[in-house]
Amino acid sequence: MGVPVIGRVSDIRHIANEGDTILVDGDNGTVVVRPNRPLVHGFEQRMSLSQKRRAEFAAIRNLPAETRDGQRIQLMVNAGLAEDAAMLEATGADGIGLFRTEFQFLIAAQLPGRESQLRLYRKVLESAGDKPVVFRTVDIGGDKALPYLAEDEKDESENPAMGWRALRLSLERKALMKAQARALIEASAGRTLRVMFPMVSEPWEYEEARALFEEQVQWAKSAKRGGPKKIEFGAMLEVPSLAETLDMLLPRVDFLSIGTNDLTQFLFAADRADPRLAERYDWLSPAILRFLRRVNGEAKAAGVPVRVCGEMAGRPLEAMALIGIGIDSFSITPAAVGPVKAMVRSIDAGAVKEKVEALLAKPPPKMRKSLADWAKRHGVAIG
Ligand code: PEP
Ligand code: MG
Repeated sequence: MGVPVIGRVSDIRHIANEGDTILVDGDNGTVVVRPNRPLVHGFEQRMSLSQKRRAEFAAIRNLPAETRDGQRIQLMVNAGLAEDAAMLEATGADGIGLFRTEFQFLIAAQLPGRESQLRLYRKVLESAGDKPVVFRTVDIGGDKALPYLAEDEKDESENPAMGWRALRLSLERKALMKAQARALIEASAGRTLRVMFPMVSEPWEYEEARALFEEQVQWAKSAKRGGPKKIEFGAMLEVPSLAETLDMLLPRVDFLSIGTNDLTQFLFAADRADPRLAERYDWLSPAILRFLRRVNGEAKAAGVPVRVCGEMAGRPLEAMALIGIGIDSFSITPAAVGPVKAMVRSIDAGAVKEKVEALLAKPPPKMRKSLADWAKRHGVAIG
């Protein structure tokens, strides 16, 4: 939404008083309480610079996300509310690569029924027009607890991220998933329905979810409720175990979407919500990049398209590294479309691939610095 937000500022309520002027610098992660004049002046100058950059991003809105050597990168946006679909127009993105359907569940006072889900999905598809929308079935449970779930269904485990959430919950609460499947099927009448499942750990979970959808398609047909002209099924790869069974999964999916937010917390065994660990592991580590390169390589060899939909892909330097390992489709937060597109249009993909391969063959101690230095030397727009 373009609203600067800083989290994890300890003791802020003792430092700031009501009515204080506060400068919030979301780019650098700093907050200044009761700033003096020179600070305010400096801040205003930086703000006008960032407005200038925003105007530059707006100017490339209708230009393709294409590298200097002619590689087209698909840039889609992550969304969760009906209003987010407007972002497609504003950013010029290629579609919605991740529609987080659980948002509707999280903001409601009670479990949204099939009808209200149907209304939302229709609205989103209508505003997307010809552009594709990938709906992710609900990722609730764990830290995205629904206050109206029954007491015994609330997760009070110590590790909610690794708990009874997402597809694990959906496969045991089939009525919930059935209602969602019916709403999605009916909303996509006459179009292509793209649906993916979160937190798939083993291929059988994907199979069970897909079978449930296919049964509902049959039901919709027999009930003369109409249905999509085609369904594309995808799995989210965010649990590392799935990477070991790609040979079983890939022949059965139409696409793979890598959720790097969850994936990296599981790869590093580091809670994504723990502030003490926030700076410890880097997305630009050889471990992450080699892992993603392997998954992408296997999927591409099987003819399955791969998209990265975690926050990692919304950062220009990280997105450059992802292009370097062969990934060519991203779904990112709308505010990141401009900066990432500017980066894409400034690179030679062939040269980036060569560099990233060389770095991954013999990783330097500071991967991020090596990549950033190289990017600067080669005129890459990393902001
Ligand atoms: C992810 O885990 O990277 C992802 C896109 O899903 P979410 O952030 O909604 O868990
Ligand atoms: Mg996730």
